[in-house]
Amino acid sequence: MKIHEYQAREILRSAGIPVPNWELVGQGDDAGAAFERLGVPLAVVKAQVHAGGRGKGGGVKLVKTAAEARDKAAAMFAKPLVTPQTGPAGKEVIKVIVAHAVDIHREIYVGMVVDRARGLPVIMACAEGGVEIEEVAARSPEKIITEPIDPCYGMQPFQARKLAFALGLGSDGHLQQAVDILTKLARLFDKQDCSLAEINPLVVTPGDKILAIDAKISFDDNAEFRHPEWESLRDLSEENPAERSATDTGLSYVSLDGSIGCLVNGAGLAMSTMDIIKLHGGEPANFLDVGGGANQQQVTTAFRILLADKKVQAVLVNIFGGIMKCDTIAGAIIAAYNEVGFHVPLVVRLEGTNVDLGRKMLADSGLKITTAGGLTEAAERVVAAAKGAA
Ligand code: GDP
Ligand code: MN
Repeated sequence: MKIHEYQAREILRSAGIPVPNWELVGQGDDAGAAFERLGVPLAVVKAQVHAGGRGKGGGVKLVKTAAEARDKAAAMFAKPLVTPQTGPAGKEVIKVIVAHAVDIHREIYVGMVVDRARGLPVIMACAEGGVEIEEVAARSPEKIITEPIDPCYGMQPFQARKLAFALGLGSDGHLQQAVDILTKLARLFDKQDCSLAEINPLVVTPGDKILAIDAKISFDDNAEFRHPEWESLRDLSEENPAERSATDTGLSYVSLDGSIGCLVNGAGLAMSTMDIIKLHGGEPANFLDVGGGANQQQVTTAFRILLADKKVQAVLVNIFGGIMKCDTIAGAIIAAYNEVGFHVPLVVRLEGTNVDLGRKMLADSGLKITTAGGLTEAAERVVAAAKGAA
């Protein structure tokens, strides 16, 4: 789950990391008033969207007067913001922040992620932070230093000092501030169940203060059960509506680029279904796992999601009836088919408990459903059906 910069700023601030003041606003005029209230000579207007690279797309503007703050904010609200991370359609800007802008002597990158290869969280840091960090990472990966963090003991003081020295923050004026920020970042990453916690840039001012002026935090969805507060941080306007309705119904759904909609129970079967479709020359339009206990409501919602996708030319239902019996699933398919109204070919492959009864129900339903005996046959049929329809 992603959150906005202003929400990430609040989390950093609660953790004791210094962040310049800001106000969140939803209209151009409010940005002018916010500038006055901040009472600073220089402010920065920043679009709040779930995408980085805003600076490059015109979503970060320095302003010196209230009128300028108002105009820059109004310009951001007026049209979608396109950055290297939004795709060409861009993202609508609903909120901006007006933040106290600081003078910058140096920009540094620090970020924390889970390194799956090591099975540990790691801190990544780079003395050359700011908007060019992706290029630095691509051109000179050796400039990114990483430090694994023990999940039981947390970041050790020697690790924080090692990172600070590597970042050129080892002098008397900087070391304590840097160690403090790095330690607090590592602690909040753990406490808040983050999958990403990034400060870019962490700046050193000409007066040798170290401050976070941009932050990006994502949470690990697996920890949602212990964070009821996340619900209020969610921004529905940023979420893919199909993925959202899937989550609400207890389905795992990921949209892909192909033409064959798949409805499968179990993640392993879903993966092999995608593989076998590709093997037979087709492209899956999605990954959709209805889980072990698929009921009629889930199957109906799943069909709705699949059929709402304009790319879908045929649908394959591949269910292994274990706990969920094949006759139950056949009943759910028939009911959902009737409720949703199918406009593309449907191929069903059922296997497992009560399979004969399930197949008979589909055959007797009089619906235009193609049944397949095995995985290969199912894949061949659905690929042919999608090609025929296209
Ligand atoms: P991003 O492009 O979405 O990552 O947005 P950032 O908040 O990181 O801003 C991009 C760039 O704008 C930063 O790397 C800075 O160079 C510049 N910038 C942002 N805030 C300030 C500020 O308070 N003062 C100054 N001088 N520059 C800023
Ligand atoms: Mn940034």
